Amino acid sequence: MLDCAIIGGGPAGLTAGLYTTRGGLKKVTMFEMGMPGGQITQSSEIENYPGFFEHGKTGMDFMETWQEQCFHFGLKHEMKKVERVAKTGEHFTITLEGGETVEALTAIVATGSTPKRAGFKGEDEFFGKGVSTCATCDGFFYKDKPVTVLGGGDTALEEAFYLSNICSDVYVVHRRDEFRAAPPTLERVKRKENIHLITDSVIEEAYGGVMGLEGVKIRNLKTNEIIDMKNTGLFVFVGHNVRNEVLRDENGEFICEVNNWGQVVVDLNMKTNVKGLFCAGDMRIQAPKQVVSAAGDGAVAALQVISYIQELA
Ligand code: FAD
Ligand code: NAP
Repeated sequence: MLDCAIIGGGPAGLTAGLYTTRGGLKKVTMFEMGMPGGQITQSSEIENYPGFFEHGKTGMDFMETWQEQCFHFGLKHEMKKVERVAKTGEHFTITLEGGETVEALTAIVATGSTPKRAGFKGEDEFFGKGVSTCATCDGFFYKDKPVTVLGGGDTALEEAFYLSNICSDVYVVHRRDEFRAAPPTLERVKRKENIHLITDSVIEEAYGGVMGLEGVKIRNLKTNEIIDMKNTGLFVFVGHNVRNEVLRDENGEFICEVNNWGQVVVDLNMKTNVKGLFCAGDMRIQAPKQVVSAAGDGAVAALQVISYIQELA
């Protein structure tokens, strides 16, 4: 029986591993289906993690030492995909791909989320080289420069507002003339002089060269007119997929409370409404979707796990 099963090896899962093992738990295994590191390993540069400020270091470089540190303190890594986490009496049964099961007193689920892609030409080619899904991460690279935002939901408009305080102009491209975002958010955006709404339009193409994105072509769906927006960063906010599959039972029902968008409901201690089950990082409600906050969540969850196990003794 494990003291703690950690599902997901991104910043939240790794930090949970560090704090549980360094805090004295002997039997902790992190199940990560790929190499540990999480989404940030796709990043070409990180500027906003406190204490880490080295130009030219990629997300992959950044996460390498996290693993070493965790394994040094006794965290075990199994490179396996978890199919399901179930509460069996007072403990948890973790079902791995292929059917093998592992028992654990507690579980920290930190399987993250993935920003959806919109599907236009050049999106994948220039992802991380001018096409971004994170304004907090990459907005500063466009200080006093124009940027384009795709999407018409709350995230797109809130992030457009955030970018408007950094960038010279923000062009919001939305495929309809009505916005999905909450009306007060839309009104606030409309009042901001340097945000320009381009409706009934899509990104036709993101183009550039070896140095990255050089511009985007925006097509009006009604007139077919193309606007060629040169020298712009492109931020895509067309929704997120929360990776919450492991929390569904055989009938497809969630074993703990999740909100309408599939985000796991936790309190400030990262506790779910199931005793002994914690969630951390991008998959939880109100996640800022940053490495520093995911790591913080992992630490909080780990400290709670240690207290929980002490109380069981
Ligand atoms: P994730 O990093 O998503 O990790 C979850 C892990 O769980 C993954 O490794 C996945 O393989 C694993 N997993 C999922 N399901 C299963 C399963 N069933 N079984 C086993 N393993 C599973 N943030 C910043 O602070 N600064 C930045 O500059 C920045 N830049 C970014 C650039 C890019 C391109 C991207 C995509 C994100 C960026 N972010 C940045 C956001 C940051 O990466 C995330 O907020 C952070 O990684 C979330 O950590 P997490 O541990 O919650 O989840
Ligand atoms: P969302 O509400 O699903 O909106 C996605 C937007 O992207 C929509 O405007 C959609 O257009 C557009 N879109 C989707 N696919 C596209 C494509 N392939 N090409 C072009 N455009 C595309 O996602 P979200 O904004 O990330 O919000 C997710 C949930 O979190 C929402 O329920 C939202 O209310 C909530 N949220 C709340 C807050 C808050 O309360 N402060 C903040 C952020 C998010 P259509 O409108 O035409 O479908």
